[in-house]
Amino acid sequence: MEKIYDVVIIGGGPGGYTAALYAARAGFRTVVLEQLSAGGQMALTHQIDNYPGFPEGVDGFELGEKMQAQAERFGAVTEYAQVIKADLLAEPKALETTEGTFYGKTVVIATGANPRQLGIPGEKEMASRGVHYCAACDGMFYKDKTVVVVGGGNSAAADAMLLSRVAKKVILVHRRDTLRATKVYHEPLQNATNVEFFWNSIAEEILHEQKVTGVRVTDLLTGEKQEISCDGVFVSIGRKPATELFGQLKLDEAGYIVADESTKTSIPGVYAVGDVRTKVLRQVVTAVADGAAAVHQMEG
Ligand SMILES: Cc1cc2nc3c(=O)[nH]c(=O)nc-3n(C[C@H](O)[C@H](O)[C@H](O)COP(=O)(O)OP(=O)(O)OC[C@H]3O[C@@H](n4cnc5c(N)ncnc54)[C@H](O)[C@@H]3O)c2cc1C
Repeated sequence: MEKIYDVVIIGGGPGGYTAALYAARAGFRTVVLEQLSAGGQMALTHQIDNYPGFPEGVDGFELGEKMQAQAERFGAVTEYAQVIKADLLAEPKALETTEGTFYGKTVVIATGANPRQLGIPGEKEMASRGVHYCAACDGMFYKDKTVVVVGGGNSAAADAMLLSRVAKKVILVHRRDTLRATKVYHEPLQNATNVEFFWNSIAEEILHEQKVTGVRVTDLLTGEKQEISCDGVFVSIGRKPATELFGQLKLDEAGYIVADESTKTSIPGVYAVGDVRTKVLRQVVTAVADGAAAVHQMEG
């Protein structure tokens, strides 16, 4: 059978499977192309506490499986395949994958944006168990505790501000001698009584036994090494949108697909949903909203 669909969705995270749910329910022949398993980044976390409807929180992997099952109940199909080339200007649009080429009248890109990692010892081992990449997601675990934030851009500054309202103490470790973040963050952070700064410093190792116990940092000016005690570490050094394949689309300077809440991109019939598009808040709840909006645009 020819692999021609009304809607081809690239990525089976919350944005992709919500688009699949709405597309299948709207009567479109729909396929989700996913390289790993359902849930995307969400599947990496055991406890999602800020997605409405789950008063006790929900396991991200389980939520991903449920989103997949819900979309498939209405006829959406999942193909486990990695998209390796995309021609979004062709008619129909062509997606070359590890399992052959799929064609779509419309394409929804839901490939996400992964947090950048430090790549230091202890980071991988303690991911989600003391090392985190999203303060809005996991900050509450550190109520009245001490946390280190690594980074100095806007996301690190925003994370440090958020954490300063929850944690007892926030220690910001940054490789330069001043924040790279926009000026609006500088004063509130400098004035917060529970925020301390380690300037000109890089994190070299996450110290841990069963739990995270601290971070080893090196002062770039003196070469001096120090151990900072803490209960958790938030790595906030930016994200990398998965857009290498989509050079035909208009991207912003950080590589995100330029699209507003309509999710329409610079090419007609191509929609970008979830973390991969330009937006202010990258969360499950905003990804699912985008998935619904994309299909609404197709129908209009
Ligand atoms: C550890 C962690 C904890 C988090 N906790 C929370 C939380 O508590 N609350 C919250 O709201 N948000 C949380 N987030 C953020 C949330 O997971 C994301 O905002 C959300 O998953 C974005 O959804 P998405 O559909 O845009 O993309 P993603 O979830 O990133 O999914 C993208 C999917 O596309 C697939 N893909 C990429 N490229 C290709 C390709 N070429 N071919 C085929 N498939 C491809 C990937 O395999 C992936 O499955 C967390 C993120 C992380 C990493």
